[in-house]
Amino acid sequence: MKIGIVGLGLIGGSIGLDLRALGHEVWGVSARASTCDRAIVRGAVDHASQDLGSLQPVEVVFVCTPIALMEPTVANLAAQLDEATIITDVASVKGDLVARLTQLWPNFVGGHPMAGTAENGIEAALSDLFVNNPYVLTPIATTVPRAIETIAQLATDLRAKLLYCDPHHHDRAVALISHLPVMVSASLITTCLGEQNPAILELAQNLASSGFRDTSRVGGGNPELGLMMAQHNQAALLRGLQTYRGEIDRLIQQVETADWTGLQTTLEKTAAGRSPFLKP
Ligand code: NAP
Repeated sequence: MKIGIVGLGLIGGSIGLDLRALGHEVWGVSARASTCDRAIVRGAVDHASQDLGSLQPVEVVFVCTPIALMEPTVANLAAQLDEATIITDVASVKGDLVARLTQLWPNFVGGHPMAGTAENGIEAALSDLFVNNPYVLTPIATTVPRAIETIAQLATDLRAKLLYCDPHHHDRAVALISHLPVMVSASLITTCLGEQNPAILELAQNLASSGFRDTSRVGGGNPELGLMMAQHNQAALLRGLQTYRGEIDRLIQQVETADWTGLQTTLEKTAAGRSPFLKP
């Protein structure tokens, strides 16, 4: 197929690498000329330009820009593309965005490949990033069935695990398993940095090992990504944070009152409850 990708960063570049490897011809558009050049050198695209008009030949466009640029980008594409062209996005938050993008382009289907790293930009793009990771499509009542089928096929070709859900349900679920963990992990790092005794702080830094590496990873990543999650998924994230605060209060009470039975029950529940979130 003839594929277009707007935004040649971690996600756009990674999609390009894999789709080209599968034999698709890929046209890329990015903001900076240097990114376009690097995308060609890295093999993520066959053709690259800063001009959205260059995507006229393509059958499918993946919009992989930062979330705030999704709407202006699709509005701009709408003035340039043939109406048979399918547009999809990769935004990490779906909610009302899907309906707004569908209004701009009826042949639109929302999508979110649930894969990433702490890096960004074209140099961070990786082959096989999506293999065995969920790729969720979020069609709404008016989404064109052929658009859903086409993007579902491409996601399957990327060897991702294909899922479907309502855009608002998506946002509530990712608030729990993606956006809340970033905030919890960030507050863990802030707590450690708040240690007032320099000798203890230095000792903690020297003693930190795999447990701290695991629990601090998502809170120590790209600040823009965390900010984006809070700005674009505010209501669902807030709900998660408030529930979490309640859980912290419960733990404080159990520890304060030496309620070891209560604490043990809590930890037994969490030990048993973790695995369904980590399906192989
Ligand atoms: P990224 O690495 O920063 O890539 C975004 C790219 O968009 C940049 O490389 C930038 O290219 C380009 N860009 C910026 N403004 C543009 C414009 N006006 N026109 C065309 N291209 C433009 O970020 P990312 O992590 O790939 O995230 C991109 C999207 O994927 C976001 O919507 C995010 O929600 C979603 N997503 C991210 C992850 C993740 O874990 N990172 C996972 C799933 C989905 P230049 O270099 O040319 O400036």
